[in-house]
Amino acid sequence: MAIYDQHMHTLYSFDSEAQLRDYLAQTKAPVVTTEHLEFDNPDDGGRDDLPDYAGMVRTQAALDTNYHNEMLLGIEAGYFAPAEPRLRDYLAHHDFDLTLLSFHHDGKHDYLDTQIATLLPKQVLTDYFSRMLMGIQRFHDADVLAHFDYGVRQFEITPEQLEAWGKTALDQIFAIAVENDLALELNTKSMYKWHNAALYDLAITWYQAAGGHLFTIGSDAHEGPHYEANFAQALAMLKRHGVKEIATYRHHKRTMVPIEPPVIDADNAY
Ligand SMILES: [Zn+2]
Ligand SMILES: [Zn+2]
Repeated sequence: MAIYDQHMHTLYSFDSEAQLRDYLAQTKAPVVTTEHLEFDNPDDGGRDDLPDYAGMVRTQAALDTNYHNEMLLGIEAGYFAPAEPRLRDYLAHHDFDLTLLSFHHDGKHDYLDTQIATLLPKQVLTDYFSRMLMGIQRFHDADVLAHFDYGVRQFEITPEQLEAWGKTALDQIFAIAVENDLALELNTKSMYKWHNAALYDLAITWYQAAGGHLFTIGSDAHEGPHYEANFAQALAMLKRHGVKEIATYRHHKRTMVPIEPPVIDADNAY
């Protein structure tokens, strides 16, 4: 049983052109796509982006004869309070193996929009975590809290600033995550492309202090070459925190996979 990437996108996401086979070709491990389910998406003209479920199933079936990987179907559920009924409705009517919970936008801007970078870091950080706290209080029917730092990717937030500005909210967010068995994702794109590894190092200790012991690693790849990017570094960080296993998901049921010995299929990096 291998540790494998549990966060990646293909052309069924509004912002990716990757093909499923781009990932399948790199590993013998299970491959789980986590396409965007995003409502009122400012990055896409305010549209609701619902992945084509039948299309994803068809694509998996078409590749099944050429690739022998186990193919799983995940979803990256973007929470936006006014769209909560639409989010719940879509999830109630589609079967997935894995649900990532994400917070990407405030209704006007995705947190990666250049406009956000012109605002004060403290203001964006506190707004982002209060949005996440209110969201996770209402909606926690997911397996994994994805990229907890998404809202501040564009800023150079120090661990000291995260503690001063964000710890009170994050403590509450992680308590709710733990209560509801949500794993904490180590998002290697955040950690090594957006240079937030030090924030993850700190957040892991807070999640553990809240009683959390479930971790996943996701590259958030939007193209093949980022599959399992920097996984060795993320695994090493988890080991430093005494973490011995990674949570993997099928039909939302957990299988814990030991970190030793590390099995890394690709040495991709951001
Ligand atoms: Zn995301
Ligand atoms: Zn993603």
